Amino acid sequence: MDSKEIKERLRAEGFRPRKSLGQNFLSDPRTIERIVQAAEIGPEDLVLEIGPGAGFLTLELARRAGEVIAVEVDRRLIPLLEEVLAPYPGARVVAGDILKVDLPALLANRSAKVVANLPYYITTPVLFRLLEHRRLFPLMVLMVQKEVARRMTASPGSKEYGALTVNLALYTKVEYLFTVPAGLFWPRPEVDSAVVRLRVFSKPFYPVGDEGLFARVVQALFGQRRKTAANALSHGLGIAREEAEKVLLAAGVDPGRRGETLSVEEFARLGQILAERK
Ligand code: SAM
Repeated sequence: MDSKEIKERLRAEGFRPRKSLGQNFLSDPRTIERIVQAAEIGPEDLVLEIGPGAGFLTLELARRAGEVIAVEVDRRLIPLLEEVLAPYPGARVVAGDILKVDLPALLANRSAKVVANLPYYITTPVLFRLLEHRRLFPLMVLMVQKEVARRMTASPGSKEYGALTVNLALYTKVEYLFTVPAGLFWPRPEVDSAVVRLRVFSKPFYPVGDEGLFARVVQALFGQRRKTAANALSHGLGIAREEAEKVLLAAGVDPGRRGETLSVEEFARLGQILAERK
């Protein structure tokens, strides 16, 4: 089956995409080619695709990768996907929710490249889940809303800079690759999209001490953006204000600054000092 035949099938079946599942399909061959190129896929690769939809991108992945595992939550699409992938013995579709599947078990603990045109309603939880299992995922090429791509690559102090930016920067090198106009999708979403590439570092870019505590510190400082760093930290971690001030000063951060102005390095230093103090 080729992409034209997939389209005919969707039409013949009267398939109606579900907004609630973030279904915006992309069949544009040029964009698909750019995504596949960005993931540097070859026969030695195992690829995890999140949300294959009708299989336009899956088809190209299956043609090039040694193995593809595509996880799709919408059971209406499974028969079509199975048919699309039938000629490729290395590719299979798994019916399931990417936020619930046991990822290490699914991949038999092997590492995989992640390629996905993500369902936008769960972008952030999916990103955090992938980060949590990052030892399995050295490289990810993801289509996200353009505004999310901006957040992923934002600079400290900008309005897009947030917990997502800091967590990603600690564990991955993020690149904004290219913008994809809304008009290329069916149905057309309200906003443009962008493709980003994440290369996972073998260890965090800065030492942070305790990773769980680091995540809480980041959350605390972005959870209350209008407060000073001292207030946000004291509130978020449930420690005395004087203690929060002391820790910030020890990390070389003026306690009167806003959390959103801290660099990733400053967050890391703060995390480390808090971890040592425990
Ligand atoms: N990859 C296809 C393409 O590029 O045309 C479809 C992309 S569409 C933006 C997102 C896909 O993710 C849909 O097929 C949707 O059904 C699927 N999806 C939504 N929630 C999911 C979940 N929790 N787990 C797995 N797939 C999901």
